[in-house]
Amino acid sequence: MARVNTARLGSVIVLAFAGLFLMNCAAHSGWQPPEMEYPIHSHERPQPPIIDPGTPSTQEQPGEPPSDAIVLFREPEDLENWSSMDGSDAKWVAEDGYMEAVKGAGYVKTRDGFGDCQLHVEWATPLPVIGKGQGRGNSGVFLMGMYEVQVLDSYQNTTYPDGQAAALYGQYPPLVNASRAPRQWQMYDIVFHRPRFDENGELMKPATVTVFHNGVLVQDHVTLTGPTANKARPPYQAHPDKLPLSLQDHGNPVRFRNIWIRPLED
Ligand code: MG
Repeated sequence: MARVNTARLGSVIVLAFAGLFLMNCAAHSGWQPPEMEYPIHSHERPQPPIIDPGTPSTQEQPGEPPSDAIVLFREPEDLENWSSMDGSDAKWVAEDGYMEAVKGAGYVKTRDGFGDCQLHVEWATPLPVIGKGQGRGNSGVFLMGMYEVQVLDSYQNTTYPDGQAAALYGQYPPLVNASRAPRQWQMYDIVFHRPRFDENGELMKPATVTVFHNGVLVQDHVTLTGPTANKARPPYQAHPDKLPLSLQDHGNPVRFRNIWIRPLED
């Protein structure tokens, strides 16, 4: 009579179960839909808030911001919403409908801090055209004061791709160059999600940015490697959840108008 090798039988059974377990895992790995808080088409679900969406801008006139936006600059007196980096009054020119970078006056920053947001900024590079490459109509929109969406006269003016208009400076060129000519008003519509750090300052989630330049998608939810910098890609360093937005003085009289922001809930 054949003797059953119980040890061998045991390992065959264990292997068979392990195989079934792995097959089961494979069947359930991959993307799973999120748990939904409400049943489909539930009338119990809260209605989204009603807002006035505002109006689009034209070259002649800035549009109206959405009714739930925080206006950062529309009138010359709105320069009060901004300061120099040392906290003193902003030394940029503020005239009818726009503010303009003044060489040597330094960056300006918002008096309030912001994190996740939708940001609308309109800007125009100088006429007459002076300089070339990075020296032509250079400024920048710095989310949280450290993540720059480049502002540059990139109309018939080439430079390194990750430094042209609508680039995430030093990291991502725009998908297309949607620049308008100098002194034309241009628009950025930006969706920004700040990085997340744990209580020990460890990075849990990097920052992401989406940018529309003159209505055209140019940055499609890109993941920042860290703060933007010149000739460097420094790593993230833990920072507060809200920090001022800043605009760059790069020595060129770049104008800004109709700046508004909609903070996004965490
Ligand atoms: Mg710049």
